[in-house]
Amino acid sequence: MTLHPLRGHEAVRASLVRAHGAGVLPSALLLHGARGVGKQHLALWLARLLVCMGPEDGPCDCCGPCRMALALEHPDIHWYFPLPRPKGVSADRMPDALEQARHEELAEIRSNSVRPSWTEDVRAIYLGTVTNLRAVAAKRPNMAEGPVFIVGQAEALVPQESSQEAANALLKLLEEPPGAARFILTSSEPGLLLPTIRSRTVPLHVPPLTFEDVHAFLSEHASADDRTAAWAARLGQGSPGRAVAFLPDDGEPGPLEQLRRRAYEIVVAAMGAGPGDGYEVAISFPPAGARSFVELFTFVEEWLRDLAAVAAGAGDAVFNQDARARLEKHLADTGAPAVDVAEAFSSVERARALARGNVNPQLVVAALIRDLRPAFRRGTPLAGAVR
Ligand SMILES: [Zn+2]
Repeated sequence: MTLHPLRGHEAVRASLVRAHGAGVLPSALLLHGARGVGKQHLALWLARLLVCMGPEDGPCDCCGPCRMALALEHPDIHWYFPLPRPKGVSADRMPDALEQARHEELAEIRSNSVRPSWTEDVRAIYLGTVTNLRAVAAKRPNMAEGPVFIVGQAEALVPQESSQEAANALLKLLEEPPGAARFILTSSEPGLLLPTIRSRTVPLHVPPLTFEDVHAFLSEHASADDRTAAWAARLGQGSPGRAVAFLPDDGEPGPLEQLRRRAYEIVVAAMGAGPGDGYEVAISFPPAGARSFVELFTFVEEWLRDLAAVAAGAGDAVFNQDARARLEKHLADTGAPAVDVAEAFSSVERARALARGNVNPQLVVAALIRDLRPAFRRGTPLAGAVR
């Protein structure tokens, strides 16, 4: 099995081909853009461009090096990404355990490269991974001019323990890349990268794909029927990896669809009259693992924005179009409470910060519902526009 073909990103690809042809491609690039938009896939495409034996107008995807790269088996293309922390492993065995985990993950990607760019478990790039990367960088390349290192979700170097050490170890490599080594970092949250790492990489923005591109991607590679593919493509907002995470999996709603529904429950509870509503929603969350709920708050923001849009009579601007009628009915039934979006968003931001700090999710959700309540009472009377 090989990687699925890269779709879209024509302008970015053309500029990379031009820079490569002119010999001015930076040795350390930072591809940044929305989560799931295809940054690591694009990085793998760029790695093929660098090792390809064919003409220079893009990787030919059929020469020996390209084929090895497509099978994720090129000996000079090294792809690192966040992994769950191996359990019960001593510090000195950690690099080996992480390398084994990385190979297992690569084997899974080989067997199915269409995977949601969203995981429930907490992952990071630990010092052991950077130790492994440094050891590879110290060796001579096998067949290419120089090794290509891809570091996906590079911001995951930061928020974990011993992060500073991991980030600094990578920094040393970026400062003095050995030989003809290339580094391609990707990040959906470049603001969380260490400023020193940011300043040693040349940023390149990877824009969202069109709805048509995401829709076609899902239809071709994710075995979704047309209607479901269109629905998920719309929610994916230009990111195929995000859209895939809405698709049903084994009869269950996709992981992002589950979070979107839970976010709706939170907003409805905050609009409700009694404090009991909030309690029930809060205790339906697990008491641990808050970091995996950070994305939940993005959906809470979308629902709040949608409520304001519906209340203002701007239903076409609603993100959750599949719930538009339900939102309109809800606002009409509840006497259309006004929503102060600015105030509500600052409550959501507080909740997100608590979740990043790994506070008990039940407490975070309970506090959020309590904090959101006043935002539905005060604020500009947008509700007047309804009915
Ligand atoms: Zn080739």
